[in-house]
Amino acid sequence: MERNKPDQKALIIVDMIRGFVNEGALADPYIGTIEDEIVRLTRKYLSNGDKVIAFKDVHHESATEFKSFPPHCIVGTSETELVDSLKPYEHSMKVIKKNSTNGFFAPGFIEEIRGIKDFVITGCCTDICVQNLAITMNNFFNQKNIPHNIQVPRNAVETFHNPEIGHDRHEMNEAAFKFMSQAGIDVVGGIELGKRKSLRTDATREIDHSNGDAVRDRWLETSGGNPELGLGKWD
Ligand SMILES: [Zn+2]
Repeated sequence: MERNKPDQKALIIVDMIRGFVNEGALADPYIGTIEDEIVRLTRKYLSNGDKVIAFKDVHHESATEFKSFPPHCIVGTSETELVDSLKPYEHSMKVIKKNSTNGFFAPGFIEEIRGIKDFVITGCCTDICVQNLAITMNNFFNQKNIPHNIQVPRNAVETFHNPEIGHDRHEMNEAAFKFMSQAGIDVVGGIELGKRKSLRTDATREIDHSNGDAVRDRWLETSGGNPELGLGKWD
């Protein structure tokens, strides 16, 4: 894997796949309304030489997640394909498959973001996979005292609408925005491109910055640099 450049930013696209937008048990076509904004961000990031990471939810038929959600996005089905508008960029993205609602634990993710401190998280669903990832990334960097900036643009995330099961799109989006924002995630209206947004530079973060890389390197060493992150084992 190529080493990330200093100052490299990452756009993360969560689950913008057919199984959540176009077809299958969990699809809600309304989620497609954020596609244009995500395509715009993707083009900009790629043309700047920044990284675009796209998560795909991909499960085997016996996935334990199906105790919590109806079967969806089974390996080999078209539900696991990116939505059409993003397909032209797929070869330039780093695609990571995940088997839970938290992409942080997907094999390869940690290694892929190594050294990057500036993130924008987009995609679906706001209150599930987006929120889980954003909070866990924030927890991870805080635990290691690694300075970071995680933004979630309201105009590039969305969730499904199913009031029959108590899942009102508007309500759940707002709840997730509030939850993430209070946890320290930078929830913004949208991402202005052209100006590179700099990391926060308050004193504490500046101090931590000096040993952030060493701390992270140590963490990767002690975890064995293992892309599986110990999956399947408790220790
Ligand atoms: Zn899933």
